Amino acid sequence: MLARAGHEVTVLEAAEDPGPVGAGIWLQALGQQVLDAIGLLEPLRAVSRPVARVDAVTVGGRQVMDFGYADVPGAVPAIGVHRGVLFTLLWEALAGSTARIATGVDVTGVRPTPGGASVETTSGAVGPFDLVIGADGSRSVVRESMRVAVRDHGYSYGALWALVDDPEGLAADVLYQCLDGTSRYLGVLPTGEQQASIFWSVRGADMRAVRGRGMDAWRQEAAPFVGERYAPLLDEVDQLLEAHYRDVVVRTPYRVRDGAGAVLIGDAAHAMSPQLGAGTSLALADAASLCHFLASAPDLETALAQHTASRRAHVRWYSWWTRLMMPVFQSDLHPIALPRDLLAGPVGSHPWVRTQMVKQLGGGQTGLVRRWQLPG
Ligand SMILES: Cc1cc2nc3c(=O)[nH]c(=O)nc-3n(C[C@H](O)[C@H](O)[C@H](O)COP(=O)(O)OP(=O)(O)OC[C@H]3O[C@@H](n4cnc5c(N)ncnc54)[C@H](O)[C@@H]3O)c2cc1C
Repeated sequence: MLARAGHEVTVLEAAEDPGPVGAGIWLQALGQQVLDAIGLLEPLRAVSRPVARVDAVTVGGRQVMDFGYADVPGAVPAIGVHRGVLFTLLWEALAGSTARIATGVDVTGVRPTPGGASVETTSGAVGPFDLVIGADGSRSVVRESMRVAVRDHGYSYGALWALVDDPEGLAADVLYQCLDGTSRYLGVLPTGEQQASIFWSVRGADMRAVRGRGMDAWRQEAAPFVGERYAPLLDEVDQLLEAHYRDVVVRTPYRVRDGAGAVLIGDAAHAMSPQLGAGTSLALADAASLCHFLASAPDLETALAQHTASRRAHVRWYSWWTRLMMPVFQSDLHPIALPRDLLAGPVGSHPWVRTQMVKQLGGGQTGLVRRWQLPG
């Protein structure tokens, strides 16, 4: 976006040979809107699958959630896509722009230098630049070097995941979740045309033990969670990979000195658990917002201040929601499971609640009623 707006852009990426890796993600309406603005939504739709419904049950068969985007007129279904497919689309667009790309560059921080802000890497300093954008994820080293106030804590629960072939389309257009208390759940996410992602909620400290017991032992444990419908997908799992979640909030994610600066976007500025599938949409929204204010504000400091102010309520709302949902679905707070299982079904069948669930999932809310507007 910045390169298209005429800026001279240099991208420093740690991966030597960035490629399509990772599990499926659930991309909500807001993220789709940003991709549409840069001409990538249609190519993405061609290689992904709509996720039109959420179906959550307990392992004992009680319905906990069952709602669809079609319940709300005008709601845009999410897209189930392999993270690598989205990555490849973005990477190709970047390669086709005027941006200079340097891969295999391990950034260690950013610091003010005469004439701008320099990026420090394990192979020397790069720059100076007018602006350094730290988009280096939840464990951002750029953030660390900026010495901004951060709340950063890792959750005790995460997920083991696998990407499996789904030639029969068993995952269809449904995000399926099967819960056992708050300590175990299995999720199935349609991922692209003939694939599905399987998520198995587990304490981070137990992941190694679960993997160590082997695939057969895990399949046996997971079998009651999938029912007949998804059983063939379990057979496809040949390894489980670890995903850990963090909760990161940076109050003021930028610094400006002598007309040059650094700013954090995406997970570097606000990582959260993936309960609502909001992270990618928020990261894309950050990018769109930053570009807008860099173009419209009279100077860098004003642009960064306006961008930060514009993003604050939106990010806070989704951080708050995911923080609230984590103990309800993935925690050692076992007593909460029973009221959740008893109440979620009846409460969730109320039209207002269903509407709220779909609206909140879309990724664009800053409250129950108010929405964040993509600037520009
Ligand atoms: C298990 C799991 C499931 C998720 N599911 C969803 C979902 O369904 N929907 C959704 O919207 N979001 C989901 N998320 C969240 C989503 O993945 C993130 O919000 C999103 O990827 C953030 O994008 P980002 O560009 O800020 O950071 P990242 O995607 O983490 O990208 C950071 C980039 O910086 C590079 N980098 C890192 N460190 C350095 C360094 N020192 N030097 C140079 N380069 C560096 C990395 O190689 C990478 O390319 C999920 C997250 C997890 C963990």
